[in-house]
Amino acid sequence: MKAMLTVLGSGTSMGVPTIGCDCAVCHSTDPRDRRTRPSVLIEYAGHSVLIDTTPDFREQAIRENIRSLDAVLYTHTHADHLLGIDDLRPLSFKHKPNRLPLYAHPDAAEFIRDMFRYIFDADYKFGGLPQVELRPINGSLDLFGAKFQPIVLIHGDAEIYGFRFGSGAYLTDHSDIPEESLNKLQGLDVLFLDALRYKPHPTHSTVEHSLATVARLKPRRAFFTHICHDLPHEATNASLPENVKLSYDGMKLEFEI
Ligand SMILES: [Zn+2]
Ligand SMILES: [Zn+2]
Ligand SMILES: [Zn+2]
Repeated sequence: MKAMLTVLGSGTSMGVPTIGCDCAVCHSTDPRDRRTRPSVLIEYAGHSVLIDTTPDFREQAIRENIRSLDAVLYTHTHADHLLGIDDLRPLSFKHKPNRLPLYAHPDAAEFIRDMFRYIFDADYKFGGLPQVELRPINGSLDLFGAKFQPIVLIHGDAEIYGFRFGSGAYLTDHSDIPEESLNKLQGLDVLFLDALRYKPHPTHSTVEHSLATVARLKPRRAFFTHICHDLPHEATNASLPENVKLSYDGMKLEFEI
């Protein structure tokens, strides 16, 4: 079936512009150089699945007029992918009496339960809480008729999840992709990849490294995300191959899920 992917945020953990930075990209007037923290929304058959709740989630949801969510998938628990969890409140209230499901690796689910104890503590009596429920991921998920397959990625010393969904895949924060995961990423129409900058980084992929992944996997279209202020949108795009582009906040594309 047809699905629509919206890039809610395309920036690295500090966002672009970065607080206090005087560089040209942080002062660019091109709206595509304004990058909130990394997240995507996938909509199909009247359902909406969110990947990660960034510290910018509230702003992203207002910008894209998000009216409902049916599930949230977490890639990992770094602050730039998680800290907007409390802003799920207005969308989660519609889920009463059932709660909005949050899917995460079993270790990540435990971390989230621990870090946001007030949300999951049945005795917490003050104020409105997100009506959410943690569901550890054990293999592929069937969400509203679409399959979401967790893809193990290497993120520095940690293993995190990317996700494949139909002909699309979203592989944020990674420094490497294991062979077994590459085998699950054949025949893609749309591939999103971490490409922080040109300079090597211990926990993130670079433009060069992600171009090599694209050359290996040969998706029809590839988009880079988790981008820092080293990459001006227009100039960087002009230097990339025809089927590879930088993503940007608000970018939408259709694909088969
Ligand atoms: Zn990140
Ligand atoms: Zn800057
Ligand atoms: Zn991370």
